[in-house]
Amino acid sequence: MPLLDPPAEGASALPAGTFEGETVIVTGGGTGLGKAMAVEFARLGARIAILSRKAEHRDAGVAAVTALGDEAAGIACDIRQPDEIHAAFDAVETRLGAPGVLVNNAAGNFPVPAEDMSPNAWRTVIDIVLNGTFFCSREFGRRHLAAGSPGSIINIGAAYAWAGGPGFSHSAAGKAGVVNLTETLAVEWAPYGIRVNALVPGLFPHDDEVQAIRSVPERRKNDGARSPAGRVGYPHELGWAATFLASPYASYITGHTLVVDGANWQRRAMLMPEFVPIRDQLGKEPFSLD
Ligand code: NAP
Repeated sequence: MPLLDPPAEGASALPAGTFEGETVIVTGGGTGLGKAMAVEFARLGARIAILSRKAEHRDAGVAAVTALGDEAAGIACDIRQPDEIHAAFDAVETRLGAPGVLVNNAAGNFPVPAEDMSPNAWRTVIDIVLNGTFFCSREFGRRHLAAGSPGSIINIGAAYAWAGGPGFSHSAAGKAGVVNLTETLAVEWAPYGIRVNALVPGLFPHDDEVQAIRSVPERRKNDGARSPAGRVGYPHELGWAATFLASPYASYITGHTLVVDGANWQRRAMLMPEFVPIRDQLGKEPFSLD
């Protein structure tokens, strides 16, 4: 195996209690990578607020945190709606205390060739990925500026922000915006003690993957061999990266995007594999206006 496996889940590079007394919001923290990050913050003493639309997702995230003996609250919120975000932040403050960390993790995604994409599909993904990230960050920033308190934001990106993402033009464009927004907000809010960083996960399969992602042809087949690392990422590894970036040990790091992908996005072959158009990769019939 080219890259070593990490220490087992449950280990931590940060001192116990690093987030003691701190409230951390994780959007979409009831499933997949959001849940894994919520759990790592909780292990270090944080109270966790999980914001998402579906009660069963929020309940799963809350259960994962409380199983560790930590405090958590699930709060209904569609991050496309600024009013709902405002109300959700009020509820977090009432139930757990003002959040010192915001993890903008929630996203929506499904593969579709650009020519088949409906305007509604485009708007929905951009609304969740880019607008939702901005609306939550804005709510967090305004409250901290008003209170004169420090804070930390972690935005979750994706490597196709730089390289483009055939089959994912909506999500790739949204994530490019998220990485760019990270850099702007870091500069605007550093004078107020607010750090803004991004994390880019590589291939991190997990059991909560939505059907649209699960059914990408060849997904979950030989995944490890598709990366120079020779393995996929473990969700708790992303949790370690998020907790480090949000911690006082990263207090001079802001405006940074940390890629956790085993160097997969930089890979090139001396001769690239024969090109396959995205319609063919997705098993789609030739495009027709009918
Ligand atoms: P996931 O399991 O599909 O989780 C997405 C979460 O977002 C769900 O909990 C969902 O909860 C929430 N959500 C979606 N729309 C929302 C909305 N409008 N308002 C509030 N919450 C909403 O995704 P994941 O694989 O864990 O990915 C987590 C993050 O990592 C995403 O930003 C993704 O783009 C990024 N990423 C993942 C991978 C990977 O390999 N898994 C690779 C690169 C980047 P509800 O349905 O309850 O709202």
